[in-house]
Amino acid sequence: MINDFEFTQPRDVSEALEALAEKGRVMPVAGGTNVLVNMKRAPLETDLLVDLTRLEALEPILSDNGRIRLGAGVTFARLLEWRPGGAVEGLMGPMCVAFAGPLIRNLATVGGNLCDASAAADASPPLLALDACVELESATGGSRTLPLPAFFQGVRKTARRATELVTGIEFSKPEDDERWFYYKLGKRKADAISIVSIAMTVKLAGGKVERARIALGAVAPFAMRVPEAEGILQGEPLNDSTIAAAAATAARESRPIDDFRATGAYRRQMVEALVKRGLNEVARRGK
Ligand SMILES: Cc1cc2nc3c(=O)[nH]c(=O)nc-3n(C[C@H](O)[C@H](O)[C@H](O)COP(=O)(O)OP(=O)(O)OC[C@H]3O[C@@H](n4cnc5c(N)ncnc54)[C@H](O)[C@@H]3O)c2cc1C
Repeated sequence: MINDFEFTQPRDVSEALEALAEKGRVMPVAGGTNVLVNMKRAPLETDLLVDLTRLEALEPILSDNGRIRLGAGVTFARLLEWRPGGAVEGLMGPMCVAFAGPLIRNLATVGGNLCDASAAADASPPLLALDACVELESATGGSRTLPLPAFFQGVRKTARRATELVTGIEFSKPEDDERWFYYKLGKRKADAISIVSIAMTVKLAGGKVERARIALGAVAPFAMRVPEAEGILQGEPLNDSTIAAAAATAARESRPIDDFRATGAYRRQMVEALVKRGLNEVARRGK
C-alpha cells in the first residue's frame, strides 16, 4: 500500500486557504487521529495534505458578549481543563472525560471530530444541544456559518466544500438557570466508541418547559436533534406523562443500525431509557 502525496505546513489561515484552493485533491489534517488511522487502512485519497497544527488562529477559546467561540484546533485535553461553568461545562466536561484516553485527547481536535462526522463523534451531541454553528472559510468564497444540523449531511459527509477550512464553532452561552444532562453509553467507561450518547439542555420557566434541546449520537447516520420529542415538552411541565411521551418519541425518531457494538433494537431502547433518565434528572435538579 503506497501513500503518495505532497505535504505542506502553512503558518497562517490565509496560507492554508491558498493551499486548499490548489488544483487536485487536498486534505486538511489537524490532530491526525482519524487521518493517520485511515492512512494505515488504505492509501489516502489526496494529492496534498495540509497540516493545520501551526495555525494559532484556530486555537483560542473566546467568550464575548454572551457568545462562545471554540477554535477548530482546540484539543479535547484543552476542553477538559476549560471551566466555563453551567450547562457548557456540564456537557463538555463529562464528554471529554469519556472521550478516548489522554494520549488521543492531547492530539484530537474538536474541528477534526466534527469534520470526520462519524455518527458516534462525541463532540456532536453536546454542541447540538448548545445550538452551535460551524464557521467555514475559503480563499475565494469568504466565510459562512452553518448550524450544526445543516453541516451534517450523511455518513461521514458534511456540507464543507473541499476548498473550505472549518475555523471555529460558535454558540450562545446558556442562561445561568439552564439545566443539562449528558451520558455516553459505551462498552467501557473510557476509550470506548459510543453505543448511544445523549446531551440535552432544558430551560424551564414557571414550572414549564420553555425550550428543550435533545441531541443523540450513534443512533442515526449522523448526530441528530429529536424535534418531535422536543416539541412534546414545549410549554408543558416535566412530569411522568410528558417525560414518557418525549422519551418514546425520541426512540421513534432515532434511526439506529445493528453493528458489532449493539443491535439497533437495543440502541432504540437505550434512547428511550436515557431520555427518560435525563429529563427526570433535569426535573429533580430544580427541586
Ligand atoms: C484510539 C482512538 C480513540 C478514539 N476515541 C474516540 C472517542 O472516544 N470519541 C470520538 O468521538 N472519537 C474518537 N476517536 C476519533 C478521533 O480521535 C476524533 O474524531 C478526533 O476528534 C479527530 O480530530 P483530529 O484533529 O485528530 O482530526 P484529523 O484526523 O486531523 O482529521 C479528521 C477529519 O477532519 C478533517 N479536518 C480536520 N480539521 C479540519 C478543519 N479545521 N477544517 C476542515 N477539515 C478538517 C480532516 O481532513 C479529516 O477528514 C478516536 C480515535 C482513535 C485513534
